Formats: sequence, structure tokens, C-alpha cells
Amino acid sequence: MSKVNNEFQLIGRAFIENTIIDCSILIEGEKIKKVSKLEQTNVKTIRFSDQFLIIPSAIDLHVHFRDWGQSHKENIKSASMAALAGGVTTALDMPNTIPPINSLELIKKRIEDFKNKSLIDYGIHSKPVKVEELREARKYIFGFKFYEEDLSIIPEYISNVKHDRLVFHAQFGQDEQSAVKFVLDHTFNCENIRFAHISRKASLDLINSSRLEGRKIFVEATPHHVFLSMKDLERKPTGYSTVRPPLAEREDNIALIEAINTGKVDFIATDHAPHSFEEKLSENPPPGYPSLEIYVSLFLTFSKRGLFNLVKVMECLCSNPARYLGIRKGEIREDYYADLTVVDVRSSYIVDSSKFVSLSKFSPFEGWELSFKPVMTILRGNVMYLNGDFQDKNHKPKQIAELG
Ligand SMILES: [Zn+2]
Repeated sequence: MSKVNNEFQLIGRAFIENTIIDCSILIEGEKIKKVSKLEQTNVKTIRFSDQFLIIPSAIDLHVHFRDWGQSHKENIKSASMAALAGGVTTALDMPNTIPPINSLELIKKRIEDFKNKSLIDYGIHSKPVKVEELREARKYIFGFKFYEEDLSIIPEYISNVKHDRLVFHAQFGQDEQSAVKFVLDHTFNCENIRFAHISRKASLDLINSSRLEGRKIFVEATPHHVFLSMKDLERKPTGYSTVRPPLAEREDNIALIEAINTGKVDFIATDHAPHSFEEKLSENPPPGYPSLEIYVSLFLTFSKRGLFNLVKVMECLCSNPARYLGIRKGEIREDYYADLTVVDVRSSYIVDSSKFVSLSKFSPFEGWELSFKPVMTILRGNVMYLNGDFQDKNHKPKQIAELG
């Protein structure tokens, strides 16, 4: 399929404008040219039976692509392949790499690596950089990410970045709630703040009170904090429950589920944090899980089982992150980028992390029975993934800023 003059239609059931309808989606070049109930004639056609559903591809705002000093855990190419296999075509990278991304020089190096290695569209976060480098850094990054070790500089530093997109890992030791309060108290004048991986009911309550005072605050939730409590994994080796913030109680899971269903969570983000299987089973396991390949199917499966409102889940996976990034993705709509994923709604599969495309063969969802596995993933009109095979010839990943 050539990239120039690329024109074809997908015919089948699709999630469009918050409902599922039979339609034809005509793709021309990188964009969706027409969405119609009538089939187009004289155009290459890919037809799906009602065993399949066409959805907008997901956008993951929180991915640790690793690489550099941790390329045995994951690299930019392997993480982007895992994303495509999971129905994700756009993702933001996190800067706690080795070395950490905290200078203009490393920001430029990271962008160069994404250009050369990524199969999906991307943006990068940087840790706070020297004030002298801020102006130039903004040309390359999507936003600044503050980790626990960066929270202490907030009072003196924050006025330099009040117009920037800011992301906070809110944790003081094991305590999320105090860190959330600290961030809320010091970011009154900031235009765009987002809390990564909120995991506690108490934190949600604090954020919702601030929202009632008129503040706009974005919130991410992860699959593990939504579905798993500490108790669920207590019989497993420690690595299964090692994550930051730590897993919580069932009432926190329930609060997150309710927050997704009522629009209080803006984004479902994986916090894809790959480590080798040996590291996760070691005596001192590092925190995090690789969930890029399963989270879309996980949330769609549990929407079908009645735990979630499907429309809200699709907003959190697709359209909310697209709007937050300011890109025409995340919805199946004319003149939007043709970023589409076809999922198998009928067949079920068992999560088997040994078969992950990710280099990190580990999952706390091991053995879960899911459906809605992606069979085809299209990025800007290019079929990049089809039933386990990847196509990366002639593909040029784009940075968020290039997707305007
Ligand atoms: Zn993270």
C-alpha cells in the first residue's frame, strides 16, 4: 500500500459519535475522507464481519519507552511495536531514563532517537531543566514531568513554567494524598496540570474539591490501580505487587471505576513500565508493569461485562487524550487522522506475558481472560500491524507538534 495516493475503505461496525454503527470509512492519504452508511464503489475495500469492531486507536500519555541504559528492559522500537499490537498509535515518553532527560542536550538526543526508532507518533516529557534552557527546551518537549525527587524545587521553580504543560508524580514515600495536596497548593497559577497515575480515593476527593473551586486539573488512571488491590496479589512473588504508587484497597479500585464512569478521570494511561522477568522476580524487584498490549482490550472487555460505561472508557482512551494533545485523532471523523484499530469482539484470549511483543515478559494480569484483541492497527492511513505482523517500511513517525 503506497503512502502517496493511498485510498481505501474499511467496511464494518464502528464506534462513531458514541455509538456503534455499520458504516464505510473512506481513507485518503493520512486522513479519514468520508464516514458514510453507504459503501463507496471503485475503491479498494477491507470488509469486516460483525465479529469485529473498528475503534479510534488509543493514545497513551504515560509510557516508559526506556532504551539507552535500559534497553534490555525495552527500547523505543519494541515499546512502539507493543503499542501497535495493543491498538495504540500515539504515546508520550517519560524522562526517568538512564541518564534522566533533564537537559537540552538529552532532550534533543531523545527526539532524534524517536525519529529513528519509533513506529508510532510520539511526544516526550522532560524533567525540569535549568531556567536558561527552558525557552529552547519548549521547542522539543510536550511538557515537564516532576518526579518525587523534583517536588521539593516546586515552590521556587514553578513560576518559570506556569504556562507550560506540567505532569506530577505525586508521592511522598508511600503517601500520595499529602503530595497531591502539596502540588495543588503550589500550582494555583499554572495553566495546565496533570496528575499521573492517581491511585487513592482520598487523592481523587482532594482533586475534585479543587475542581469545585473552578480549577481545571487533568487526572490519569492506570489499569493496575483500577483493577488490582494489594490483597489480589498477596500470594504472588513480591514483584507482582511492586509498583509506584503502591496498589491500594478495593475501595480505591471502586472509587477509580466510579471516577471513570462519571468523567472525573480524564485519561486511562498505562504507565507502561517494563522490566525484565528476572528483575521482577528478584529479591529487590523494580516497580511497574508493561500493559501497552492489553489495556485497550482489558477496558473494553470490562465495559462489555458492565463495569464501565463504554462511552466514558472510549473518551479516556482516545478522545480526551487527543484533545489534551491538541491533535485531530481519537475519534472516527472526517478530516481526522486515520488512526484506527480493529478489535475482535467475539474471540477470547488468555493474557500470556511470555508472548508479549514488549521485551518485558511480565504482567500482574497474567491468566486473565479477555476479548477485544486488536487484529489491525492503522496509523495515519498506514496499516502498521496486522494479526501479529508489523509493517514499518516508508513510515515516518511524527511528533505531537507536527500533527496540528
Ligand atoms: Zn510512570
